[in-house]
Amino acid sequence: MRNSYFALARFVVSFSLIYPVICTTTFAGTFAPTPEQYATMSQSCEEAGDTFDKDTFGKLKRIRILDTYFYLIGDTYYESALVEAYRAPVARRWTDGVVRFRFTTDVQPEHRSIWRDAVHQWTEDTCVTFLELGADDNETHPELLTVSYSYVSGLSNSSIGAGPSAWMYIQRQHWCTRMIRHEMGHVLGMLHEHQRDDRAGFIDVFEQNCSSRHLPNVKMLCPTVNASAYDFESVMHYSAQQTAINGRDVLRPKPEYMSYYDRMGELPCVSDLDRVAIRREYCMKEAEAGLDAGASTPCSHE
Ligand SMILES: [Zn+2]
Repeated sequence: MRNSYFALARFVVSFSLIYPVICTTTFAGTFAPTPEQYATMSQSCEEAGDTFDKDTFGKLKRIRILDTYFYLIGDTYYESALVEAYRAPVARRWTDGVVRFRFTTDVQPEHRSIWRDAVHQWTEDTCVTFLELGADDNETHPELLTVSYSYVSGLSNSSIGAGPSAWMYIQRQHWCTRMIRHEMGHVLGMLHEHQRDDRAGFIDVFEQNCSSRHLPNVKMLCPTVNASAYDFESVMHYSAQQTAINGRDVLRPKPEYMSYYDRMGELPCVSDLDRVAIRREYCMKEAEAGLDAGASTPCSHE
């Protein structure tokens, strides 16, 4: 067992001392650690073998978007100051679970509607809220999300976690429900479920079948904050061949989980366990008695 597991266990134990009810339930959904969480976690992830090493983080290309520099890791942009400080995928949570956002003026009403539907998906049964500002509202705030179109061919991306220049840029043909719900998970600080650092117990990964461009979306990330049980049905999970170059599986559930094969990465809705993860990371104090996944209203697929 890797040392990082011991560190994660220490982290979970430390949480359990504070939130005993939470830690007696099964854990779903995974987050990039906050700086505060990272400080309590192992720094020995290089030993995991199939994850990024610290040198990789030191060689990333820095890109300026809005007024902030970011590094692209997979399909998600991380604030450069955090990556440089920790050489790891670290992201901030939104203070009090409030996401201040604004659309740029060109975002069409039908796209705003899809986006607001995603807001409903993530806020239902959680304490997270989204506060919309007018496009001409010049309020500056240490945490502000700009939602707009991407004009880079083939690319729709988001920054991860809270920040003064958080953003989500989506190509016009990508404004579908699953895409927006997935990107909103990144905005809230969530990572791809299949990249969490305990994935080895749940999926097999065949990097040789993955396109080089998408490899950063497949490699394990470490350390990660695994806020709920491994969830094949998470909106943050990829499907088996989503990143394949040869029609073969890149991700495959372990034999005992093969019943999830056709559902993994295919479900359009924010899962109940995704919400459990949100509650654990954002709503601990008020959610201690509310970790029973389920009872959410049916999710619209279109
Ligand atoms: Zn993603």
